[in-house]
Amino acid sequence: MENFNVMEKFGHEQVVFCSNVESGLKAIIAIHNTTLGPALGGTRMLNYKSVDQALNDVLRLSRGMTYKAAVAGLNLGGGKAVILGDSATQKNEMLFRTFGKFVEGLWGRYITAEDVGTNVRDMEYVRMETKFVTGISKALGGSGDPSPVTSYGVYVGMKACANAQWGNDSLRGKKIAVQGAGHVARNLCEHLYSEGAEIFITDIIDSKVQRVLETIKAHVVKPEEIYELDVDIFSPNALGAVLNDKTIPMIKAQIIAGGANNQLEEEDRNGQMLLDKNILYAPDYVINAGGLINVANELEGYRQDRAMKHAEGIYDILSRIIKVSKEQNIPTHVSSNKIAEERLAKIGGIRKIYTPCSNSNVR
Ligand code: NAD
Repeated sequence: MENFNVMEKFGHEQVVFCSNVESGLKAIIAIHNTTLGPALGGTRMLNYKSVDQALNDVLRLSRGMTYKAAVAGLNLGGGKAVILGDSATQKNEMLFRTFGKFVEGLWGRYITAEDVGTNVRDMEYVRMETKFVTGISKALGGSGDPSPVTSYGVYVGMKACANAQWGNDSLRGKKIAVQGAGHVARNLCEHLYSEGAEIFITDIIDSKVQRVLETIKAHVVKPEEIYELDVDIFSPNALGAVLNDKTIPMIKAQIIAGGANNQLEEEDRNGQMLLDKNILYAPDYVINAGGLINVANELEGYRQDRAMKHAEGIYDILSRIIKVSKEQNIPTHVSSNKIAEERLAKIGGIRKIYTPCSNSNVR
């Protein structure tokens, strides 16, 4: 009963264990909630220490996808998959085509994409067995690299935060500390630089910073210096858990707005610490939803201009989340969860209405 209890606790609809001896595939697909539409979420390939650890990861991540899609206004549910194995040594065509067969067996209840440990090429193998895969390369008619849309969403989200904190959304002259100089940070810096912001940047790999400096001017700082800078905005775009008991007391910025996933180490405690310090935190899964918006767009025939337009909506979404947070004096990650749950409840209500000849009746 233990697994059913966990599913019930987190509200999962379906968890599928996939095993195939010939290919060596061991995978778990978790469908959290399909109230809004098919469950979409990437496939992570990791050398998990145990099946329990893999199960825990896929349950947690798939639930997160439900909230992310709901708050971004997408008609998608939350899902995720994990493949147990070493992504450096155990990847091959057969593994991913076998996985594609299992995805196909769900007949569209779950749509997959790349994630940590998998890439566009792996998804091309998956696509040989199922059409329920997104985030494939531009050459094959897919959406390709999502980071330009993610970065644009982070940029407009940052402007929404500026408006809420300072009554004006201009970033001109604002001092902004950017952690990481990878895909998301690079595009983001270009937007910020064009608007006249003063940028401080860091990365653990010097060549990444140099690449950013080819198109913009910025002050380069050491990785450990980034938290303490006397800046207006801190933008994490590298790794998770960077907002924690140790870093939050150091931060002088009044806004935290960046694309990295899982920024709060201890969600409730660290979210509350930021509220107490009057630091406006843009919930990561909201401000970086451009990546999901981008792959969702591919399902309707990809057009980057449409994806960008949709990502622009992050400005209004974040403004509403901040408003609710201020009115109710609750951390922004709590107000965004509330807004997502409200949408799920409301749309779930509409689905109950019987309409002849409509697909929604069979949900
Ligand atoms: P990336 O790998 O291109 O860039 C990350 C950069 O962070 C790398 O250059 C790396 O060297 C640097 N880095 C690692 N540790 C660091 C440290 N301690 N200090 C400073 N820099 C450090 O990844 P990306 O695609 O730019 O994604 C960045 C973050 O945004 C990740 O958390 C990712 O999950 C998240 N995200 C990305 C997208 C997207 O569209 N790419 C979408 C949603 C969320």
